[in-house]
Amino acid sequence: MSDAETTTRFFSVAQRLKDVPPYLFQRIDDLKAAARERGQTIISLGIGDPDLPTPQELVDELYEQAKINANQKYPKYKGLDEFREAVADFYQRRFGIDLNPEDEVLALIGSKEGIANLALAVLDPEDIVVVPDPSYPVYPMNAVFAGCGKYTVPLKEENGFLIDFGAIPDDVCRKAKLVWMNYPNNPTSAVAPIEFFEEAVAWAKKWGVILAHDNPYSEVYQDGPPPSLLSVEGAKDVGIEFNTLSKTFNMTGWRVGMAVGNREIVQALGRVKSNIDSGVFTPIQRVAIKALRMPLETLDPLRKTYRARRKVAEKVLEEAGYAVYHGKGTFYLWARTPKGMKSFEFVGKLIEKTGIIVGPGSGWGASGEGYFRICLTLPEEELGEAVGKIVEAFPVR
Ligand SMILES: *Cc1c(COP(=O)(O)O)cnc(C)c1O
Repeated sequence: MSDAETTTRFFSVAQRLKDVPPYLFQRIDDLKAAARERGQTIISLGIGDPDLPTPQELVDELYEQAKINANQKYPKYKGLDEFREAVADFYQRRFGIDLNPEDEVLALIGSKEGIANLALAVLDPEDIVVVPDPSYPVYPMNAVFAGCGKYTVPLKEENGFLIDFGAIPDDVCRKAKLVWMNYPNNPTSAVAPIEFFEEAVAWAKKWGVILAHDNPYSEVYQDGPPPSLLSVEGAKDVGIEFNTLSKTFNMTGWRVGMAVGNREIVQALGRVKSNIDSGVFTPIQRVAIKALRMPLETLDPLRKTYRARRKVAEKVLEEAGYAVYHGKGTFYLWARTPKGMKSFEFVGKLIEKTGIIVGPGSGWGASGEGYFRICLTLPEEELGEAVGKIVEAFPVR
């Protein structure tokens, strides 16, 4: 008897998993493995993981902190007092926002963790979660984990990829409990002005909806610094914001982030988490404190690097006739596929022809169809060469 047969005989996986597709980059990993088997050199512009290293002083700090016996024990669930204070101080310096470190700040094992667990804190089966499309694939998982309804709202280029709250039907607004927003936006690179968040807060108050803003790229911007949801007066009545050290300090592997905002929502998430995990490793929190307390200008070179890379990639694409969206944030470049190809078809053929991996727009939702995403996570020259190979392999004129 084969393993598969034995397995199906004794159990089947939960019904809810039938609605869970394999994580987007799992599918791309499979294409990548196939290319590697064919002997191709892989250039990955697919997954959003910075190529730049974590600052050395932070790496050194981890080693020092890990040696301390007290730091090797179970951490405090909601995060060290000093961590929550450092987050509050960062939000004050960066956005001018007052947060009470006692109950308006919570440590997360990366923001992905908090985003997923928020479902268990605020959603009931009769509720609806409103999810933008395209978007980070963890938001729609809220509906799966909470067993509730989901309403997908398309992000359109002609609206600057902002959510059009006016287009959400009244019967959906009435049942909506939570709406996800993310600006600077992954995957489109769009940035939202403060007026957008003002509109969101007014809409949320009208309908009694919780606003969840995912803000991992708050420091990865091109021009002026983008606002926080909490920059809006009264946002704390209805809103929670997620942030992380991952993209700001090149610390994706470290797994440390934070939820800030409405006390009740933050505390509800904390209650879920204290029954699921046991907090962020204390030495990592100590490193995060050091990072968050750095002067904000420390991040200027990071922004300069991505700005230069974006310019190079945009130039190569546009000179070849590709339609590029001029986003003002994140380290992603969002563009139309050549000759209107389907996203997955383009990505598959591109890997086959060149060994270059980019993200298929439709992987983030149906409205991303006909787009692809490039991560600006290669040095300028290599990036220019890679993008050059893309336009050479797929000319549009
Ligand atoms: C990278 C990313 C995250 C995850 O950040 P972690 O803190 O590393 O979990 C969340 N949301 C979006 C939109 C991201 O791009």
